[in-house]
Amino acid sequence: MIPFNKPYLTGKETIYIEDAVKSGKISGNGKYTKKCQEYFESNYGFKKCLLTTSCTDALEMAAILCNVEPGDEVIVPSYTFVSTALAFVRQGAKIVFADSRKDHPGIDEDIIETLITSKTKAIVPVHYAGVACDMDKIMSLADKYNLFVVEDAAQAIDSFYTGADGVKRALGSIGHLSAFSFHETKNIISGEGGMLCINDERFSKRAEIIWEKGTNRAEFFRGEVNKYGWVDTGSSFLPSEVTAAFLWAQIENLQFIQAKRKAIWEKYYKLFSQPTENDFSLPFIPDYASNNAHMFYLVCENLQQRTELINKLKDNDILAVFHYLSLHKSEFYQAKHDGRELPECDRYSDCLVRLPMFFELTDEEIQMVWEVIRTPVSK
Ligand SMILES: *Cc1c(COP(=O)(O)O)cnc(C)c1O
Repeated sequence: MIPFNKPYLTGKETIYIEDAVKSGKISGNGKYTKKCQEYFESNYGFKKCLLTTSCTDALEMAAILCNVEPGDEVIVPSYTFVSTALAFVRQGAKIVFADSRKDHPGIDEDIIETLITSKTKAIVPVHYAGVACDMDKIMSLADKYNLFVVEDAAQAIDSFYTGADGVKRALGSIGHLSAFSFHETKNIISGEGGMLCINDERFSKRAEIIWEKGTNRAEFFRGEVNKYGWVDTGSSFLPSEVTAAFLWAQIENLQFIQAKRKAIWEKYYKLFSQPTENDFSLPFIPDYASNNAHMFYLVCENLQQRTELINKLKDNDILAVFHYLSLHKSEFYQAKHDGRELPECDRYSDCLVRLPMFFELTDEEIQMVWEVIRTPVSK
């Protein structure tokens, strides 16, 4: 059987976990947490990084930092994971869902301005499949209307955006805040795990307080204050050293993992660029975006074709899966949605299929997936 995903282990995870455990410091914000945070800060241009227990947590921290309150509106693509919207809903925000682009499942940047009102507080672009949204467009709207931008960069580690100024910037370093995931389905992992990046220094001090249950504990341990106490809202957002030690083993191998994933993606792309008896479109990477090989997907012509394709792969012991269901039509949010149709989002909900994509996927397995998909689905 070819699974859809298989978490890759470098072999060092348990060694570093043992080291963390034996050091006697297994709660959060210790040696491994700092090593991970410093790595990301010095290699990707994030101003300040805080590891979290998930990307969902990092998004919740971002919602608190933006002071999102009941009555505020937040613009979110409908084609995304629940957490992108949920983190802001928990603060009382109304979600204004945006449609996807015709050529890519990411947010349609050109319609965002039509969704902005006097109540809009933030835009939350999602870099779907690790492929950049057009951040120049989004950041200029944020400037014009004085909004915060929180990048949902859950899938976007080691991926880049080149703006009109020609500068190549890491995804997650552009918005005021950004959130990454190290869930076992992402490129580098720690089981559950995430990170908040703070690029606007106005948020730095408060972020650390919210991270540490609303206390100024971090400042106290740096000797900046002589006692610590309850100074703000917050929660227990920081992971233990066990999680950070696991992540450190992955970070050490990040470039190695990325090179392999990119080779797999390219192999898929080359095979699927050949003519087949089925109609589907391939992933689109705009000129301004890099590809971090998080995902390889196809967009079928319709739901029936996709269902047949997934079933045919399954009959051949290959697991391919569809992805998000439009959030504006979800059981939880449907009645709260303002009723606008979001046809592109619905199309990706019906037609997008993700193929097996993981470090250990072999050339033979990729070839097998292609052989099954190239032949007609309806007999
Ligand atoms: C995976 C993912 C999340 C959630 O990440 P967790 O670490 O599981 O909380 C959020 N948004 C997007 C776009 C994701 O792909």
